[in-house]
Amino acid sequence: MGKVYLTGAGPGDIELLTVKALRVVREADVIIYDRLANPDILKEAKDGCEFVYVGKEDSHHILPQEEINEVIYQNALKHENVVRLKGGDPFVFGRGGEEGIYLRERGIRFEFIPGITSAIAVPEYAGIPVTHRGVTVSFRVVTGHESRNKDHSQIPWENYRTDDTIIFLMGLHRLKVICKKLIEIGKPAEYPVAVISKGTTPDEQTVVGTLENIYEKAKGLPTPALIVVGEVVKLREQLSWFEKA
Ligand code: SAH
Repeated sequence: MGKVYLTGAGPGDIELLTVKALRVVREADVIIYDRLANPDILKEAKDGCEFVYVGKEDSHHILPQEEINEVIYQNALKHENVVRLKGGDPFVFGRGGEEGIYLRERGIRFEFIPGITSAIAVPEYAGIPVTHRGVTVSFRVVTGHESRNKDHSQIPWENYRTDDTIIFLMGLHRLKVICKKLIEIGKPAEYPVAVISKGTTPDEQTVVGTLENIYEKAKGLPTPALIVVGEVVKLREQLSWFEKA
């Protein structure tokens, strides 16, 4: 019976992979990977390493989570070193916890290897600091996706009246609703918002607007994309560095 490394692959730029993640990738007998993990990472694997794609992007699972858990488990029965490579960090809307629990219940050893989460790194590549002295003292990372088959919102909108930076993951398809809700709870229509698509990759694109107009401005941007709401968005004017002007 092998060991499973539940490994964060970082947000896209391959150089944002941790040294530890790179080591386990190089030692892996099998790598079970997501659509969000940069596929170039797989080139680091040793000869004979097997690759299993359990692609999922946003909420559109190609394999249901239960099946992914089982794939990881079955591979752990067959292989010594199993790497489960996940975009960003395994615990930030990565379902890494569920995978760990499934393995623990079946007596499989595992390690978690944190990854650089897109929630912080993608705004950073866009020149938007998630906190900034004198502007905001906190930030939240929120899912923009709501489970289907739910009559009412699971997102506690009332809590978002404060001036923390809010980073919505998995929310591009609900951008209009998100902005509308934030205006409803009292944020000004001209409150700054940025949408960042394919962050930390050569295709990164950032669109800046307000709660009122970002939906129109960001139309057609490709996924993965995240939404940053807050005064910190304005700092991009001084801090933008990665994207070509
Ligand atoms: N565990 C991941 C997040 C998984 S949820 C992490 O820590 O980064 C998937 C969501 O992350 C996407 O819907 C998108 O909102 C965001 N995301 C991931 N990679 C991204 C990227 N390179 N650029 C923009 N958003 C990204």
